[in-house]
Amino acid sequence: MLIFVAATGLILLAAAGVFGAFLQDSVDRAVEEQMYAETAEYIKRLEKQMDTNFQLLDTLAVFIGDGEVLDDDEFAEIFDKANHQNDFLTMGYFDKNGNGITSTLGEGAERMLLEEGQEEFREVAYAALEGKSRVSRLFTGNLSHEKVFVYAVPVKTDGEIKGVLCASDHIEIFSDILTGNQVMGGSAYIHMVNQDGDFLIRSERAIVKENAETLLGEPFLEPEEYDSVREKMHNSEEVRFSFDYAGETYRVLLEPVGINGWYLLCINSVQESSRILYLVTRVTAAVLASIIALLIFWLIYSYRLTRKNTHELNRLAFFDQLTGTYNFPRFRQEVGEEIEKDANGALVSLNIHQFKFINEIFGKERADRLLQHVADTISAYLREGEIFCRESADFFYLFLRDTDKEEIRERLETIMSEACGQIDREENGYHMLMYCGAVISDERVVLYDLEQMMTHVMFALEKARETHQNNVWFFDTRLHEQERMDNYVEGHMYQALDDEEFRLHLQLKKDLKNGHTAGAEALVRWIRGDGTTIYPDQFIPVFEENGFCTKLDMYMVEKVCLCIRDWIDRGLEPIPVSVNQSKAVLYQTDYVQKLCGVIEKYRIPEKYITLEILEGAALENAEDFNRTLCILRKKGFRISLDDFGSGYSSLNTLGSLQIDELKLDRGFLNDIADGKDSKSKIIMEQVVELSKKLNIQTVVEGVETEENDRMIREWGCDLGQGYYYARPISAEEFTERYIKVKEG
Ligand code: C2E
Ligand code: CA
Ligand code: CA
Repeated sequence: MLIFVAATGLILLAAAGVFGAFLQDSVDRAVEEQMYAETAEYIKRLEKQMDTNFQLLDTLAVFIGDGEVLDDDEFAEIFDKANHQNDFLTMGYFDKNGNGITSTLGEGAERMLLEEGQEEFREVAYAALEGKSRVSRLFTGNLSHEKVFVYAVPVKTDGEIKGVLCASDHIEIFSDILTGNQVMGGSAYIHMVNQDGDFLIRSERAIVKENAETLLGEPFLEPEEYDSVREKMHNSEEVRFSFDYAGETYRVLLEPVGINGWYLLCINSVQESSRILYLVTRVTAAVLASIIALLIFWLIYSYRLTRKNTHELNRLAFFDQLTGTYNFPRFRQEVGEEIEKDANGALVSLNIHQFKFINEIFGKERADRLLQHVADTISAYLREGEIFCRESADFFYLFLRDTDKEEIRERLETIMSEACGQIDREENGYHMLMYCGAVISDERVVLYDLEQMMTHVMFALEKARETHQNNVWFFDTRLHEQERMDNYVEGHMYQALDDEEFRLHLQLKKDLKNGHTAGAEALVRWIRGDGTTIYPDQFIPVFEENGFCTKLDMYMVEKVCLCIRDWIDRGLEPIPVSVNQSKAVLYQTDYVQKLCGVIEKYRIPEKYITLEILEGAALENAEDFNRTLCILRKKGFRISLDDFGSGYSSLNTLGSLQIDELKLDRGFLNDIADGKDSKSKIIMEQVVELSKKLNIQTVVEGVETEENDRMIREWGCDLGQGYYYARPISAEEFTERYIKVKEG
């Protein structure tokens, strides 16, 4: 902007300069032309005057030439009379022999010899005697005692020169011309000089007051200029120059008259002549200056306005109006740059619990004050290089340079209690709470960008909100992965079911007495489109929570039925398959109906289906549950109690529930194998013992080692299930490996 102002100013100044120079030049030229024109006019008038005088003398000369030679006295008388009739000072007639007569005004006629005349006079007189009309140089006449010059014309009779007629005139005739008129509107005056620069006639209004005799001297010309000017004048050339006198500059024009090497000298005051120019220049300068000033003013004004606007825009674009802190876009930009530089730090989101109520209870104005207080508090506790912003309402983001969890927690707790303290003090009874979510970026976290941090900090904040105290929650990657999986599961379960991504896997149940295949447990696997597998632990709890289990369990029953149907159809020996049934599916009112519907659809004998239920589900409403179990058992289904011993298992359950099979949780095995719990072993033995008495088959889950196998055999368990015997495999693979052709 400044450069623009300066450039514009300079351009305008340059334009003014050029314009000024042009104006000056034009005026100079106009003045010089005017000087020339007026001087030329004077020369013309001079020539005319002289022509008139010559004509007068020529006429007289004709009369004299034609007339009889008069008696001297008579001639003198007539001559004197004639002289009185014109403006000449002295008139004279001389014959070829140089005898003459003169008449001087007021003094009468006199006889005179030509050779007695003054030099200047003689020169022109002799020339006239040779037939040439002349005007003499200026001289002081002996007769008139005045500065005069002499005209001389030849007098002829029948073409032969008879004598010469002379007349002298003083300078007044020029002075009339030279003083009679204003030259150049009064700003100039005119002199006459001879070829040597000597003044012949000086104007009465001469500006140079000293009685200068010649032009070729001070103050008109410098000595070194004399010669060149004189030379030009001797060549009858026009001469122009200027000189300074009494603080003013004058312009000089020397114009040759054409007679006797005379020159008219026109001197013109530059200042005088340039008055208009000065006026014009001054007005122009003033106008230009005003324009420049206006322009500069306007530029400065608009510059300041723009700056103000930019400032205002900046403030709107980058700062929070209420608290004056950065707004979110600015914060994001700054932190983004920091993180790109691999800066270690923590991103924190700070929020006020139930802020909308604070707004409602205390009113917007006080709530705003409170937010300002929060901002001030944060600002007071920030360290060098740390920044924060208010994103919206009660959302604050902080970027701290710490990466130590405990230190961050401590700092945030201080900020929170300080900020909450304000409203505690002001409002007895209302206890404000704040919460923070934080995520740390340091060397341990690879490629953590701001976007990720922002998302993660929101997860952490969400967690922090759940607790009702000033709380700081750090983003936990493992927990987050879990939640992400839960979210995936919930978001994709329906589609997965449609796409048949839930696949039937089977795990062998081994008869410990004879080593035969006693049955299998159906375990679901979620095989995603990309071939990756999700295990039941990751989705069954979610399905139990959201009720999708009812769909999945029935689906699995159907898949099991399909599988058994396949075995039967292929003439293979079917084995009983256990299907896990969640609590929700069992409590459905039309459960039995549905189950039977599927069984009938595939024409599967009920004895091949074992329903695995959890103890917890059975105990919640034992009576209703038992009734269902009774119906199921009557229909021919087998019932297995799963995970016995994992929760609050009770031996009472064994007595009160109508079950065919008891599955002992692998936790038992673990404990015993570790040698930690000798009681577990005793309980286990007792449970097996008791089951035998109640005619309940026992299955031990999670048999992983030979040692496990040996132990459960010792206890007298019926069946074993675990990696030691077989891992869960796809139904197809299982069929191939374990299902035998029916004998007989
Ligand atoms: P569960 O019913 O107790 O099933 C046994 C689990 O133990 C299976 O895990 C099986 O793969 C695993 N297992 C078998 N042998 C061993 C071993 O030697 N060592 C160890 N550590 N584990 C072994 P899986 O398949 O991941 O299933 C986990 C749980 O998911 C099951 O526990 C069951 O409660 C549930 N589940 C599986 N499929 C279904 C289903 O179709 N419907 C329902 N409602 N729940 C199911
Ligand atoms: Ca099971
Ligand atoms: Ca189990």
